[in-house]
Amino acid sequence: MPTLEKVKVTETQFTMNYVNELYESVKKRNPHEVEFHQAVKEVLESLIPVLEKHPHYIKQGILERMVEPERMISFRVPWVDDYGYVQVNRGYRVQFNSAIGPYKGGLRFHPTVNSSIIKFLGFEQIFKNSLTGQPIGGGKGGSDFNPKGKSNTEVMRFTQSFMTELCKYIGPDTDVPAGDIGVGAREIGYLFGQYKKIQGAFTAGVLTGKGLGYGGSIGRKEATGYGTVYFVEEMLKDKGLGFKESTVVISGSGNVSIYAMEKAIQLGATVVACSDSNGYIYDKRGIDLTTVKRLKEVEGKRISEYVDEHPSAEYTEGCKEIWSIPCDIALPCATQNEIDEHAAKLLVSNGVQAVGEGANMPSTLQAVDFFLENNVLFGPAKAANAGGVSVSALEMAQNSARLSWSFEEVDLKLQQIMKKIYQDSMTAAKEYSNPGNLVVGANIAGFIKVADAMVEQGVI
Ligand code: GLU
Repeated sequence: MPTLEKVKVTETQFTMNYVNELYESVKKRNPHEVEFHQAVKEVLESLIPVLEKHPHYIKQGILERMVEPERMISFRVPWVDDYGYVQVNRGYRVQFNSAIGPYKGGLRFHPTVNSSIIKFLGFEQIFKNSLTGQPIGGGKGGSDFNPKGKSNTEVMRFTQSFMTELCKYIGPDTDVPAGDIGVGAREIGYLFGQYKKIQGAFTAGVLTGKGLGYGGSIGRKEATGYGTVYFVEEMLKDKGLGFKESTVVISGSGNVSIYAMEKAIQLGATVVACSDSNGYIYDKRGIDLTTVKRLKEVEGKRISEYVDEHPSAEYTEGCKEIWSIPCDIALPCATQNEIDEHAAKLLVSNGVQAVGEGANMPSTLQAVDFFLENNVLFGPAKAANAGGVSVSALEMAQNSARLSWSFEEVDLKLQQIMKKIYQDSMTAAKEYSNPGNLVVGANIAGFIKVADAMVEQGVI
């Protein structure tokens, strides 16, 4: 007769074997998709205690279903450049999971986009969207088109061609794209115009991140960056800390980064560094956000030009070493895997207290482990950057009701959503014996809602 302790070890071993086998089959079925493997590995490992407690998820094949997209669409995007030459890019849309709502997630236009990037982003979006408490499923899309160096008319022609194919698969109750890297207000405008022309109808709810004059939500632009800071504020508050008088390093200088800087500064922090894909700027007296906004949002210039106007700042070519700058709070808001173990070690040795992921999966698995082992407060992307998609869901609600809310209303709702995500993640982490671990907590809280909806809807 095995002792109770032995039975427990055997059960844990069984679940671990199940998860390992599933992970191996994901690798085999999706060869070379390393970013997708990374995202799946993190989630599967977090779910071991849930599967032990609720083995019916195993019998129902919930995880096998979750790691396989409901649909992965890939298509040719031909367009004519300014010299009259035909160019061809590849477009994608992954419709990953619709258990709790229409597929929802951004479009990324960047030369690094491939099926692995789109699938890791779409997979993460399932859990992130569930955490928001809004009725939205998981999706993502994009193209390997590089908007950098393209004229406005080239971007328009590419974007129209992209939508000419994408429009067959989306709609306000089926799949609602938005922006991501390389897709901002301008691209959303062209996408919306082309969709409207093809459909012959003004369907506001088909895209989010729209301009304020044609169905966009006030506060959407700021939402991801503000949301990340609201989330980190909750983590800090629990330890009696705050942004006030803290030193902050924020990578990137796109939409997420700019509004994370804005909110951190409003809360009394000094933001000493930010970056773009070429390099980073550092000014220990604090970065002047008005200049960054003008250079990036209005003039489309490189961050290196900042030092021409602010000689007290230093510019360094290359992005990796931004994490060698001593800070209390680090907010990676640029791109995936920008913090590796080396960067994590630098941050920890310089005394970082909190890390909040504004970008999607900006820390490698080794970096995350290192932060957790060293008791750094760590806000994972699925939770910390969920503010953007949350306000997208609020935009959908306003479009359905044909009305618009004020900035104060949207911002208050965003703050409430970020607080709730923090509390739900903390509660789940505690319930499943990993108190304080928000990586595990966010994955579990996001998972359970989707898994239960899948069970209730039968084998589909
Ligand atoms: N691209 C954003 C994200 O990663 C926003 C998605 C959306 O608003 O649908 O969550």
